[in-house]
Amino acid sequence: MSDNATTLPLERISVNALKVVKRLTGHGFEAYLVGGCVRDLILGRSPKDFDVATNAHPEEVRDIFRNSRTVGRRFRIVHIRFGRDIVEVATFRSAHKEIDENTHTNDGRILDDNIYGTFQEDAYRRDFTMNALYYNIDTAEIIDLVNGLDDIKANRIRLIGEPDNRYREDPVRMLRALRFKAKLGFDLDEQTGSSIHHLGYLLQDIPPARIFEEVLKLFMSGHGVATLEAMLEYDLFGWLFPSTRRVMDDTLAEKLIHLALASTDRRIANDMPVTPAFIFAALLWYPFIEDKKRLEEEGVAHVEASHAAAANVIGNQQLFTSIPRRFSGPMRDIWNLQFRLPIRYGRKPEILVTHKRFRAAYDFLLLREESGEKLDELGQWWTDFQEADEDARRKLKLQTTDKKKRKRNRKRRSNHDRMSANSYPP
Ligand code: ATP
Ligand code: MG
Repeated sequence: MSDNATTLPLERISVNALKVVKRLTGHGFEAYLVGGCVRDLILGRSPKDFDVATNAHPEEVRDIFRNSRTVGRRFRIVHIRFGRDIVEVATFRSAHKEIDENTHTNDGRILDDNIYGTFQEDAYRRDFTMNALYYNIDTAEIIDLVNGLDDIKANRIRLIGEPDNRYREDPVRMLRALRFKAKLGFDLDEQTGSSIHHLGYLLQDIPPARIFEEVLKLFMSGHGVATLEAMLEYDLFGWLFPSTRRVMDDTLAEKLIHLALASTDRRIANDMPVTPAFIFAALLWYPFIEDKKRLEEEGVAHVEASHAAAANVIGNQQLFTSIPRRFSGPMRDIWNLQFRLPIRYGRKPEILVTHKRFRAAYDFLLLREESGEKLDELGQWWTDFQEADEDARRKLKLQTTDKKKRKRNRKRRSNHDRMSANSYPP
């Protein structure tokens, strides 16, 4: 055991987490801060939440804290609530070194991980060395059984144990590796990285609901662009979004997704709200458009094709990541409005700007243009329209009708020229 006397800045540690640790140790239990919060404190970052590890069993923790409840299907963890702040307390668990028929599937995944263990076992069952550091508040010591401190100093993400086994036990660790790479700007240790290239298929066995939760963390934690790049580099993207991956080489999909994530990252940096609906609209726009095209070529009319394509694409995607209805609805709205934005005569534009999803649809339109779609300056037109007074709006609408007329006239003229050229050879 290598003890380390790096004192962590007490003022950055949540008062509530301190309270929880003190109460547990006061009752004679062992309790430590652990995981991401210790890692982030060492890196001089502010942790987003605090986890506590203890030898007290969940029922014992519950007895000590009235403001607590047990959560988790996979593991039983106690949430202790202080207003809006929650401290997670987990009992030491074992590492599942041997593949046990009752707790593992044939491919080695953990089915029942709710088995308590010793402090040592708890350290080794964690994913990366940088996430297996424990902080003893009383002695101000970091306990590091896995050389995590060295890895943090070297900006290195390293799985504890044998990477292939650890990924087989829980394939989501591959996504976590890339998420931390993007968030911390660390590199993956050689084997921690190389194994991912050939194990991505294991993600197919993870329940879509868990993958969806993970996708939110991947794309909505402020480092979406870097995460996307890592997912493409390590060949994981296609296992989560197969229909998108298939159209990526022949469309502007990658550009569009990149821009959507960049905009999401910017919004998060500025404390502005973000929604998965917008990101999923970008992720699945080209699969949707391609399917709609296919249906229209088969003779299906626009409205119906659009409806059916959305249902197909969302239905397919839900085999991989769930998409709760509260997001798939707004996502369809964003798509459908794309076909209404070009229609600008009469009162249509005034009505459209009052649509509850207009703003998102307009933002989406701007991204489509920025990604390289040729849309005849439609985005600029809507920008102008929103800023214009009634008179200027009338003029803007005239422009579009004028342009149409001009185009029609040009067409007529050239037909006429062609015809006259035919009838009157020079
Ligand atoms: P974040 O900053 O995103 O909260 P974190 O490291 O705290 O990062 P959590 O998902 O909050 O991540 O998990 C807390 C700790 O639990 C991790 O640091 C790690 O030690 C352990 N852990 C989480 N998920 C896994 C997993 N799939 N396999 C093994 N250990 C895990
Ligand atoms: Mg955490």
